[in-house]
Amino acid sequence: MSVSQRARNIVPSATLAISATARRMRAQGIDVIGFGSGEPDFDTPDHIKEAAIQAIREGFTKYTATGGIDELKDAVVIKLKRDNGLEYTRDQVLISCGGKHSLFNVFQALLEPGDEVIIPAPYWVSFPEQVKVCDAKPVFVHTNERDGFRLHRAQVERHVTPRTKILVLNSPCNPTGAALTPAELKGLGDLATEWGFWLLSDETYEALVYDGYQHVSVASLSEEVKARTILVNSLSKAYAMTGWRVGYTAGAKDVIQAMDSLQSQETSNPTSIAQRAAVVALTGPQEPTYRMREEFDRRRRCIVDRLTGMPGISCLSPQGAFYVFPNVSGTFGKHHLGTTIRTSTEFAAYLLDAARIAVVPGVEFGSDDHIRISYATSMANIEKGMDRMAAAIAQLQ
Ligand code: PLP
Repeated sequence: MSVSQRARNIVPSATLAISATARRMRAQGIDVIGFGSGEPDFDTPDHIKEAAIQAIREGFTKYTATGGIDELKDAVVIKLKRDNGLEYTRDQVLISCGGKHSLFNVFQALLEPGDEVIIPAPYWVSFPEQVKVCDAKPVFVHTNERDGFRLHRAQVERHVTPRTKILVLNSPCNPTGAALTPAELKGLGDLATEWGFWLLSDETYEALVYDGYQHVSVASLSEEVKARTILVNSLSKAYAMTGWRVGYTAGAKDVIQAMDSLQSQETSNPTSIAQRAAVVALTGPQEPTYRMREEFDRRRRCIVDRLTGMPGISCLSPQGAFYVFPNVSGTFGKHHLGTTIRTSTEFAAYLLDAARIAVVPGVEFGSDDHIRISYATSMANIEKGMDRMAAAIAQLQ
Protein backbone atom coordinates (compact mmCIF):
# COMPACT_ATOMS: atom_id res chain seq x y z
CA MET A 1 0.00 0.00 0.00
CA SER A 2 1.34 3.42 -0.85
CA VAL A 3 -0.02 6.95 -0.91
CA SER A 4 -1.29 8.35 -4.21
CA GLN A 5 0.88 9.97 -6.84
CA ARG A 6 -1.14 13.16 -6.25
CA ALA A 7 -0.25 13.20 -2.57
CA ARG A 8 3.39 12.43 -3.36
CA ASN A 9 3.54 15.36 -5.79
CA ILE A 10 2.56 17.89 -3.15
CA VAL A 11 5.30 19.95 -1.55
CA PRO A 12 4.28 20.61 2.07
CA SER A 13 3.96 24.29 3.01
CA ALA A 14 7.49 25.57 3.67
CA THR A 15 6.24 28.54 5.64
CA LEU A 16 4.29 26.34 8.05
CA ALA A 17 7.31 24.03 8.32
CA ILE A 18 9.63 26.90 9.29
CA SER A 19 7.19 28.06 11.96
CA ALA A 20 7.01 24.50 13.30
CA THR A 21 10.83 24.28 13.44
CA ALA A 22 11.04 27.57 15.35
CA ARG A 23 8.34 26.35 17.78
CA ARG A 24 10.19 23.06 18.31
CA MET A 25 13.48 24.82 18.99
CA ARG A 26 11.79 27.15 21.46
CA ALA A 27 10.26 24.14 23.23
CA GLN A 28 13.82 22.80 23.63
CA GLY A 29 14.76 26.04 25.36
CA ILE A 30 16.61 27.53 22.36
CA ASP A 31 16.11 31.27 22.04
CA VAL A 32 15.07 31.38 18.38
CA ILE A 33 13.34 34.40 16.84
CA GLY A 34 10.69 33.43 14.30
CA PHE A 35 10.44 35.52 11.15
CA GLY A 36 8.79 32.73 9.20
CA SER A 37 5.20 33.13 10.17
CA GLY A 38 2.53 34.75 8.02
CA GLU A 39 0.46 35.53 11.06
CA PRO A 40 -0.24 38.86 12.78
CA ASP A 41 1.14 38.81 16.32
CA PHE A 42 -1.81 40.95 17.49
CA ASP A 43 -4.75 39.52 19.36
CA THR A 44 -8.15 39.32 17.64
CA PRO A 45 -9.98 42.56 18.58
CA ASP A 46 -12.26 42.25 21.62
CA HIS A 47 -15.54 43.18 19.93
CA ILE A 48 -14.99 40.29 17.47
CA LYS A 49 -14.22 37.85 20.29
CA GLU A 50 -17.36 39.01 22.14
CA ALA A 51 -19.53 38.17 19.12
CA ALA A 52 -18.18 34.61 19.16
CA ILE A 53 -18.75 34.27 22.92
CA GLN A 54 -22.30 35.50 22.49
CA ALA A 55 -22.85 32.98 19.65
CA ILE A 56 -21.76 30.16 21.97
CA ARG A 57 -24.00 31.42 24.76
CA GLU A 58 -26.96 31.56 22.36
CA GLY A 59 -26.29 27.98 21.30
CA PHE A 60 -25.30 28.97 17.79
CA THR A 61 -23.14 25.88 17.66
CA LYS A 62 -24.75 23.68 15.04
CA TYR A 63 -24.29 23.11 11.31
CA THR A 64 -25.11 26.12 9.20
CA ALA A 65 -25.78 26.35 5.46
CA THR A 66 -22.76 24.86 3.66
CA GLY A 67 -21.65 28.10 2.02
CA GLY A 68 -22.11 30.25 5.12
CA ILE A 69 -24.94 32.04 6.90
CA ASP A 70 -26.91 34.68 4.99
CA GLU A 71 -25.92 37.30 7.57
CA LEU A 72 -22.23 36.77 6.76
CA LYS A 73 -22.76 36.67 3.01
CA ASP A 74 -24.60 39.99 3.36
CA ALA A 75 -21.71 41.37 5.44
CA VAL A 76 -19.34 40.40 2.61
CA VAL A 77 -21.64 42.13 0.10
CA ILE A 78 -21.58 45.27 2.29
CA LYS A 79 -17.78 45.11 2.65
CA LEU A 80 -17.18 44.70 -1.09
CA LYS A 81 -19.41 47.72 -1.80
CA ARG A 82 -17.88 49.86 0.98
CA ASP A 83 -14.20 49.11 0.37
CA ASN A 84 -14.05 48.09 -3.28
CA GLY A 85 -17.05 49.76 -4.93
CA LEU A 86 -18.26 46.34 -6.08
CA GLU A 87 -21.88 45.20 -6.36
CA TYR A 88 -22.49 41.54 -5.65
CA THR A 89 -25.59 39.63 -4.58
CA ARG A 90 -25.75 37.05 -1.81
CA ASP A 91 -25.78 34.16 -4.30
CA GLN A 92 -22.44 35.35 -5.71
CA VAL A 93 -20.70 34.86 -2.36
CA LEU A 94 -19.37 31.72 -0.66
CA ILE A 95 -17.84 31.50 2.81
CA SER A 96 -15.11 28.88 3.30
CA CYS A 97 -12.73 27.67 6.02
CA GLY A 98 -10.05 30.33 5.40
CA GLY A 99 -8.80 31.94 2.21
CA LYS A 100 -6.66 28.89 1.48
CA HIS A 101 -9.81 26.78 1.36
CA SER A 102 -11.56 29.38 -0.84
CA LEU A 103 -8.67 29.23 -3.32
CA PHE A 104 -8.64 25.44 -3.26
CA ASN A 105 -12.34 25.37 -4.12
CA VAL A 106 -11.89 27.88 -6.95
CA PHE A 107 -9.20 25.73 -8.57
CA GLN A 108 -11.26 22.57 -8.05
CA ALA A 109 -14.33 24.20 -9.57
CA LEU A 110 -12.59 25.61 -12.67
CA LEU A 111 -9.69 23.39 -13.68
CA GLU A 112 -9.62 20.40 -16.01
CA PRO A 113 -6.52 18.16 -16.12
CA GLY A 114 -3.91 19.77 -18.37
CA ASP A 115 -5.27 23.32 -18.01
CA GLU A 116 -2.65 25.99 -17.50
CA VAL A 117 -2.66 28.50 -14.64
CA ILE A 118 -0.38 31.50 -14.93
CA ILE A 119 1.24 32.31 -11.61
CA PRO A 120 3.46 35.38 -11.28
CA ALA A 121 6.71 34.59 -9.45
CA PRO A 122 7.74 35.12 -6.72
CA TYR A 123 4.50 33.52 -5.57
CA TRP A 124 2.82 32.39 -2.39
CA VAL A 125 3.73 28.73 -1.81
CA SER A 126 0.19 27.31 -2.00
CA PHE A 127 -0.75 28.51 -5.49
CA PRO A 128 1.28 26.01 -7.54
CA GLU A 129 0.60 23.13 -5.17
CA GLN A 130 -3.16 23.67 -5.25
CA VAL A 131 -3.05 23.81 -9.06
CA LYS A 132 -1.09 20.56 -9.15
CA VAL A 133 -3.72 18.82 -7.01
CA CYS A 134 -6.14 19.45 -9.91
CA ASP A 135 -3.69 17.80 -12.37
CA ALA A 136 -3.37 21.22 -13.98
CA LYS A 137 -0.11 22.96 -14.84
CA PRO A 138 1.36 26.00 -13.09
CA VAL A 139 3.02 28.34 -15.61
CA PHE A 140 5.33 30.84 -13.96
CA VAL A 141 5.85 34.41 -15.11
CA HIS A 142 9.00 35.75 -13.49
CA THR A 143 8.75 39.35 -12.38
CA ASN A 144 11.85 41.45 -12.05
CA GLU A 145 13.24 42.82 -8.82
CA ARG A 146 14.85 45.78 -10.64
CA ASP A 147 11.33 46.67 -11.74
CA GLY A 148 9.94 46.35 -8.19
CA PHE A 149 8.45 42.90 -8.95
CA ARG A 150 5.72 44.54 -11.04
CA LEU A 151 3.51 42.50 -13.34
CA HIS A 152 2.93 43.85 -16.83
CA ARG A 153 0.53 42.70 -19.50
CA ALA A 154 3.36 42.04 -21.99
CA GLN A 155 5.14 39.65 -19.60
CA VAL A 156 1.97 37.63 -19.06
CA GLU A 157 0.95 37.69 -22.72
CA ARG A 158 4.06 35.76 -23.71
CA HIS A 159 2.83 32.83 -21.59
CA VAL A 160 -0.81 32.75 -22.67
CA THR A 161 -1.86 29.69 -24.71
CA PRO A 162 -5.26 28.28 -25.68
CA ARG A 163 -4.99 26.12 -22.52
CA THR A 164 -4.65 29.10 -20.19
CA LYS A 165 -7.58 28.91 -17.80
CA ILE A 166 -6.64 31.24 -14.94
CA LEU A 167 -4.25 34.09 -14.21
CA VAL A 168 -3.55 34.38 -10.49
CA LEU A 169 -3.25 37.91 -9.15
CA ASN A 170 -2.09 38.52 -5.61
CA SER A 171 -1.88 42.22 -4.92
CA PRO A 172 -0.46 43.11 -2.42
CA CYS A 173 1.80 40.14 -2.95
CA ASN A 174 3.06 37.56 -0.53
CA PRO A 175 6.13 37.39 -0.49
CA THR A 176 7.32 40.56 -2.29
CA GLY A 177 4.82 43.10 -0.95
CA ALA A 178 4.42 44.50 -4.48
CA ALA A 179 1.00 46.08 -5.06
CA LEU A 180 -0.29 46.65 -8.58
CA THR A 181 -1.56 50.00 -9.88
CA PRO A 182 -4.96 50.42 -11.60
CA ALA A 183 -3.14 50.86 -14.95
CA GLU A 184 -1.26 47.57 -14.51
CA LEU A 185 -4.45 45.81 -13.43
CA LYS A 186 -6.30 47.22 -16.44
CA GLY A 187 -3.71 45.77 -18.83
CA LEU A 188 -4.12 42.35 -17.20
CA GLY A 189 -7.92 42.63 -17.09
CA ASP A 190 -8.02 43.48 -20.81
CA LEU A 191 -5.80 40.50 -21.57
CA ALA A 192 -8.18 38.20 -19.67
CA THR A 193 -11.23 39.47 -21.53
CA GLU A 194 -9.47 39.27 -24.91
CA TRP A 195 -8.38 35.65 -24.37
CA GLY A 196 -11.33 34.57 -22.25
CA PHE A 197 -9.47 33.26 -19.20
CA TRP A 198 -10.32 33.78 -15.54
CA LEU A 199 -8.64 36.19 -13.17
CA LEU A 200 -8.30 34.78 -9.67
CA SER A 201 -7.71 37.84 -7.52
CA ASP A 202 -6.39 37.00 -4.06
CA GLU A 203 -6.85 40.20 -2.04
CA THR A 204 -5.93 38.76 1.35
CA TYR A 205 -3.55 41.65 2.14
CA GLU A 206 -5.66 44.52 0.81
CA ALA A 207 -6.03 46.19 4.22
CA LEU A 208 -2.28 46.25 4.84
CA VAL A 209 -0.90 48.84 2.43
CA TYR A 210 1.55 51.67 3.06
CA ASP A 211 2.96 54.94 1.72
CA GLY A 212 -0.50 56.16 0.68
CA TYR A 213 -1.03 53.24 -1.70
CA GLN A 214 -4.75 52.60 -2.33
CA HIS A 215 -5.81 49.03 -3.00
CA VAL A 216 -7.95 48.61 -6.11
CA SER A 217 -9.71 45.36 -6.89
CA VAL A 218 -9.26 44.29 -10.49
CA ALA A 219 -12.98 43.43 -10.53
CA SER A 220 -13.85 47.11 -10.10
CA LEU A 221 -12.22 48.16 -13.39
CA SER A 222 -15.15 47.27 -15.66
CA GLU A 223 -18.20 45.01 -15.83
CA GLU A 224 -16.42 42.86 -18.41
CA VAL A 225 -13.40 42.33 -16.18
CA LYS A 226 -15.64 41.72 -13.17
CA ALA A 227 -17.44 38.94 -15.05
CA ARG A 228 -14.05 37.23 -15.55
CA THR A 229 -12.84 37.74 -11.95
CA ILE A 230 -13.14 35.41 -9.01
CA LEU A 231 -12.27 37.46 -5.95
CA VAL A 232 -10.92 35.75 -2.85
CA ASN A 233 -10.32 37.41 0.49
CA SER A 234 -9.73 36.32 4.06
CA LEU A 235 -10.32 37.64 7.56
CA SER A 236 -7.03 36.12 8.76
CA LYS A 237 -4.63 39.01 8.23
CA ALA A 238 -6.87 42.10 8.31
CA TYR A 239 -8.50 41.17 11.63
CA ALA A 240 -5.80 39.00 13.23
CA MET A 241 -8.14 36.00 12.87
CA THR A 242 -5.82 33.32 11.46
CA GLY A 243 -7.08 30.60 13.79
CA TRP A 244 -10.77 31.29 13.16
CA ARG A 245 -10.57 30.05 9.55
CA VAL A 246 -12.86 32.34 7.60
CA GLY A 247 -12.31 33.26 3.96
CA TYR A 248 -14.69 34.13 1.18
CA THR A 249 -15.12 34.13 -2.58
CA ALA A 250 -17.20 36.46 -4.77
CA GLY A 251 -17.85 35.85 -8.43
CA ALA A 252 -20.06 34.33 -11.09
CA LYS A 253 -23.08 32.47 -9.70
CA ASP A 254 -22.37 29.19 -11.50
CA VAL A 255 -18.80 29.07 -10.15
CA ILE A 256 -20.01 29.87 -6.63
CA GLN A 257 -22.68 27.17 -6.95
CA ALA A 258 -20.06 24.60 -8.05
CA MET A 259 -17.81 25.57 -5.13
CA ASP A 260 -20.76 25.23 -2.75
CA SER A 261 -21.37 21.68 -4.00
CA LEU A 262 -17.70 20.80 -3.58
CA GLN A 263 -17.65 22.27 -0.10
CA SER A 264 -20.78 20.29 0.83
CA GLN A 265 -18.74 17.10 0.32
CA GLU A 266 -15.47 18.40 1.82
CA THR A 267 -15.87 20.39 5.00
CA SER A 268 -19.55 21.44 5.12
CA ASN A 269 -19.89 24.90 6.65
CA PRO A 270 -17.12 26.99 8.20
CA THR A 271 -17.39 27.06 12.02
CA SER A 272 -20.71 28.59 13.06
CA ILE A 273 -19.15 30.62 15.88
CA ALA A 274 -16.40 32.02 13.67
CA GLN A 275 -19.00 33.06 11.12
CA ARG A 276 -20.84 35.17 13.70
CA ALA A 277 -17.55 36.79 14.68
CA ALA A 278 -16.77 37.46 11.03
CA VAL A 279 -20.02 39.40 10.59
CA VAL A 280 -18.94 41.77 13.34
CA ALA A 281 -15.37 41.99 11.99
CA LEU A 282 -16.54 43.02 8.52
CA THR A 283 -19.34 45.40 9.52
CA GLY A 284 -18.08 46.72 12.88
CA PRO A 285 -15.44 49.37 13.60
CA GLN A 286 -12.38 49.08 11.37
CA GLU A 287 -10.06 51.09 13.66
CA PRO A 288 -8.27 48.02 15.09
CA THR A 289 -7.19 47.14 11.54
CA TYR A 290 -5.95 50.69 10.95
CA ARG A 291 -3.95 50.53 14.19
CA MET A 292 -2.37 47.22 13.16
CA ARG A 293 -1.50 48.70 9.81
CA GLU A 294 0.23 51.66 11.48
CA GLU A 295 2.28 49.34 13.63
CA PHE A 296 3.19 47.12 10.66
CA ASP A 297 4.27 50.24 8.80
CA ARG A 298 6.60 51.26 11.64
CA ARG A 299 8.17 47.79 11.64
CA ARG A 300 8.43 47.75 7.85
CA ARG A 301 10.43 50.96 7.86
CA CYS A 302 12.70 49.71 10.62
CA ILE A 303 13.41 46.34 9.03
CA VAL A 304 14.05 47.76 5.54
CA ASP A 305 16.41 50.29 7.07
CA ARG A 306 18.32 47.63 9.00
CA LEU A 307 18.59 45.21 6.06
CA THR A 308 19.73 47.91 3.67
CA GLY A 309 22.76 48.53 5.87
CA MET A 310 23.98 44.91 5.77
CA PRO A 311 26.77 43.95 3.35
CA GLY A 312 25.66 41.59 0.58
CA ILE A 313 21.96 42.32 1.22
CA SER A 314 19.61 44.63 -0.67
CA CYS A 315 15.97 45.17 0.11
CA LEU A 316 13.10 46.91 -1.67
CA SER A 317 10.52 48.70 0.41
CA PRO A 318 7.26 46.75 0.04
CA GLN A 319 3.96 48.58 -0.61
CA GLY A 320 1.82 46.03 1.20
CA ALA A 321 1.41 42.83 3.28
CA PHE A 322 3.84 42.20 6.18
CA TYR A 323 6.90 40.67 4.54
CA VAL A 324 10.18 41.90 3.18
CA PHE A 325 11.90 39.90 0.47
CA PRO A 326 15.57 40.91 0.59
CA ASN A 327 18.04 39.79 -2.05
CA VAL A 328 20.80 37.87 -0.25
CA SER A 329 22.74 36.69 -3.33
CA GLY A 330 25.56 39.10 -2.45
CA THR A 331 26.51 36.64 0.31
CA PHE A 332 26.70 33.62 -2.01
CA GLY A 333 30.19 32.17 -2.24
CA LYS A 334 31.06 33.43 1.26
CA HIS A 335 31.73 30.97 4.02
CA HIS A 336 32.00 30.52 7.76
CA LEU A 337 33.79 27.67 9.60
CA GLY A 338 34.03 25.57 6.45
CA THR A 339 30.40 26.09 5.35
CA THR A 340 29.92 27.90 2.05
CA ILE A 341 26.64 29.63 1.28
CA ARG A 342 25.41 29.10 -2.27
CA THR A 343 21.61 29.17 -2.09
CA SER A 344 18.75 30.78 -0.20
CA THR A 345 18.23 27.49 1.64
CA GLU A 346 21.84 27.44 2.82
CA PHE A 347 21.61 31.11 3.78
CA ALA A 348 18.44 30.45 5.83
CA ALA A 349 20.10 27.41 7.46
CA TYR A 350 23.11 29.58 8.33
CA LEU A 351 20.86 32.20 9.94
CA LEU A 352 19.08 29.56 11.99
CA ASP A 353 22.38 28.06 13.10
CA ALA A 354 24.50 31.17 13.64
CA ALA A 355 21.89 33.81 14.50
CA ARG A 356 19.02 31.73 15.85
CA ILE A 357 16.58 33.43 13.54
CA ALA A 358 14.07 31.56 11.38
CA VAL A 359 13.37 32.93 7.88
CA VAL A 360 11.94 31.24 4.77
CA PRO A 361 14.30 30.55 1.83
CA GLY A 362 13.20 32.40 -1.32
CA VAL A 363 13.45 29.25 -3.42
CA GLU A 364 10.16 28.16 -1.86
CA PHE A 365 8.52 31.20 -3.48
CA GLY A 366 10.30 30.75 -6.82
CA SER A 367 13.41 32.90 -6.29
CA ASP A 368 16.64 31.45 -4.95
CA ASP A 369 18.31 34.87 -4.57
CA HIS A 370 15.99 35.95 -1.77
CA ILE A 371 14.69 35.13 1.68
CA ARG A 372 11.33 36.08 3.13
CA ILE A 373 11.24 37.81 6.50
CA SER A 374 7.86 38.40 8.12
CA TYR A 375 7.60 41.53 10.24
CA ALA A 376 4.46 40.23 11.93
CA THR A 377 6.46 40.10 15.14
CA SER A 378 7.23 42.63 17.86
CA MET A 379 9.56 45.59 17.36
CA ALA A 380 11.77 44.15 20.12
CA ASN A 381 12.10 40.88 18.17
CA ILE A 382 12.84 42.79 14.98
CA GLU A 383 15.59 44.84 16.66
CA LYS A 384 17.12 41.79 18.32
CA GLY A 385 16.78 39.62 15.21
CA MET A 386 18.35 42.23 12.93
CA ASP A 387 21.24 42.67 15.40
CA ARG A 388 21.83 38.92 15.29
CA MET A 389 21.55 38.77 11.51
CA ALA A 390 24.03 41.63 11.09
CA ALA A 391 26.47 39.89 13.43
CA ALA A 392 26.14 36.57 11.56
CA ILE A 393 26.71 38.26 8.21
CA ALA A 394 29.76 40.08 9.58
CA GLN A 395 31.30 36.65 10.32
CA LEU A 396 31.05 35.54 6.68
CA GLN A 397 34.29 35.65 4.72
N1 PLP B 1 -3.47 34.11 0.23
C1 PLP B 1 -2.23 34.51 0.56
C2 PLP B 1 -1.44 35.27 -0.43
C3 PLP B 1 -1.70 34.22 1.82
O1 PLP B 1 -0.48 34.62 2.15
C4 PLP B 1 -2.50 33.46 2.73
C5 PLP B 1 -1.94 33.07 4.04
O2 PLP B 1 -0.78 33.11 4.30
C6 PLP B 1 -3.78 33.09 2.33
C7 PLP B 1 -4.23 33.41 1.07
C8 PLP B 1 -4.68 32.27 3.17
O3 PLP B 1 -4.89 32.65 4.45
P1 PLP B 1 -6.01 31.94 5.32
O4 PLP B 1 -6.21 30.56 4.80
O5 PLP B 1 -5.53 32.00 6.71
O6 PLP B 1 -7.26 32.76 5.11
